[in-house]
Amino acid sequence: MLILVINSGSSSVKCDLLDAREGERQLQGRAQRVGTPQCSFQIGDAAPESTPGLDHQAVLTRMLPLLLQGHEVGAVGHRVVHGGARFGQPVRIDAEVEAAISELAELAPLHNPPNLAGIKAARALLPDVPHVAVFDTAFHGTLPRRARAYPLPEEVVRRHGIRRYGFHGPSHAWVAQRAADHLEEDLRDLRIITCHLGNGASACAVEYGRSVETSMGMTPLEGLVMGTRSGDIDPGILIELIRKEGLDADGLDRLLNRESGLTGVSGVGNDMRDISARAAEGDERCRLAIQVFAHRLRKYIGAYAAVMGGVDAIVFTAGIGENSALIRHRVAQRLDFLGARLDEDKNRDARVSRAAPVAEISSAHSRARLLVVATDEAHAIARATMALASGAASVEEALTIPVAVSARHIHLTDEAVEALFGKGYTLTPYKPLSQPGQYASEEKLDIVGPKDTIPGVRILGPPRPKCQIEVSRTDEFRLGIDAPVRNSGDVANSPGVTLVGPAGQLTLTEGLICARRHIHMTPEDAERFGVNDRDVVEVAIASEGRDLIFGDVLVRVKSSYRLEMHLDTDEANAAEVRPGQSGVLAATSASARLRRRRI
Ligand code: ADP
Repeated sequence: MLILVINSGSSSVKCDLLDAREGERQLQGRAQRVGTPQCSFQIGDAAPESTPGLDHQAVLTRMLPLLLQGHEVGAVGHRVVHGGARFGQPVRIDAEVEAAISELAELAPLHNPPNLAGIKAARALLPDVPHVAVFDTAFHGTLPRRARAYPLPEEVVRRHGIRRYGFHGPSHAWVAQRAADHLEEDLRDLRIITCHLGNGASACAVEYGRSVETSMGMTPLEGLVMGTRSGDIDPGILIELIRKEGLDADGLDRLLNRESGLTGVSGVGNDMRDISARAAEGDERCRLAIQVFAHRLRKYIGAYAAVMGGVDAIVFTAGIGENSALIRHRVAQRLDFLGARLDEDKNRDARVSRAAPVAEISSAHSRARLLVVATDEAHAIARATMALASGAASVEEALTIPVAVSARHIHLTDEAVEALFGKGYTLTPYKPLSQPGQYASEEKLDIVGPKDTIPGVRILGPPRPKCQIEVSRTDEFRLGIDAPVRNSGDVANSPGVTLVGPAGQLTLTEGLICARRHIHMTPEDAERFGVNDRDVVEVAIASEGRDLIFGDVLVRVKSSYRLEMHLDTDEANAAEVRPGQSGVLAATSASARLRRRRI
């Protein structure tokens, strides 16, 4: 299948017409300096055509008919930089997806708008073929929470959706796989550090096939020194600049995204070839640019080896990584301690191409292998596009269920409230729960068992017709009582327990249960999932490295419910579902997927 891949970037547009399987190019189109008076484009080997002032959409509208002449395109793949939290997989583009990509521009203002312009132009010109968005961020969907999280106040993080996303996903994934192929190993057995060193640059720790750390963050500004971007700097510097130079958001954006990095340090622009040539002639600023660039990368390699507890291969790719023996030499100089030994001759002679994409540059005795690998993002995007367009991958987004963790808690009758807190006492709502009308109350009680007491257990309101205490298996061991697994409300013949409150104590003859795990849903949800009230289903929980499938999950359907699965703390721990920070029924970031119906 012939795929058109469009990479519509901030100042350039790259179009590749290629065979998705082999990656063989039929034709390519390149537009430079888009949106400026120097804008021009070139199709294949034809002479460049000057198109002053054309924007992304206009230049694509000129290029595409020329490019597509005599070719039948099966699908169009678009590189999209930011997929946010929503897009963890390639997706078929429709009006709604277009709108979502547009909303994500807030997270990637330099990138998503030109990506979107490419999508709009191509969809207008090729309305009858599938268009697929392939996201830079998607490969890093496997980052563990500790690598994703920034240590900022929780409230601020939540308000702005602050987290590490990571970029250059198709490239990191592609070169890691090529490295594994070259080493004749399964990618799932290797710890690889991939260094994508182009104009934008990022490193990635690919642990057994999954991205577990990467240097770009919430935006592509973090991490390595880049052509025009600073990468990591002390955030205190920003505060100083705001105070002393009166810089505003746009000013900082320009400074950090366009005027820093190799450009800022070297003073001769962002091209590593020029910088290297000047450095060789003794230009101090260019020397410093190279030193800072290489030092920063070496620092990341050391860090990522520590993150993965070792490294089997280090991969250099993209413009600088594939072509600059000098940078590779500088970076690899002191990696002996990781067992990575550079062979200087091999490094100098290394040449990679699409036809021969891997060159090994480590010495014969190097335990960790050093590789130069030609990246091919267009091919990676074409493959993903073909998989989706030909139906090999599912287009539909999975129906997921939010998971909440239900900590031990108590339901009381009105009479029990009075017995424990005093005549005429009513519960004080402290926090509403996700299920409508339910709340956690201010009041807490001690649960006294034959073996031990569990102090300070939260009461949930409003009062119910029967007292009920819901605990986990671990709580039962602590109390010294065996409780049955029951549906909420079904307390007949369950063991009793003693509750102690500020105004008295109450010994119940029944009421202690271990709640059966369940899913609340509305009749509409039930319809979507194809289940009925009181069905028992299996649910798969996707968590970090400890996926778990729960059987015996009860479906509870009521129009007043809100879709949510409730686990107790033991179950949540087993599945590594993070309990929320407070409350009885704490929402988590985990989601579950209904597996199949059981009879
Ligand atoms: P992007 O795709 O991010 O624009 P590339 O992967 O094309 O970037 O890489 C661009 C960078 O690669 C530039 O800094 C360029 O100077 C550098 N580069 C290309 N060829 C060489 C070379 N022979 N020696 C050193 N650097 C090179």
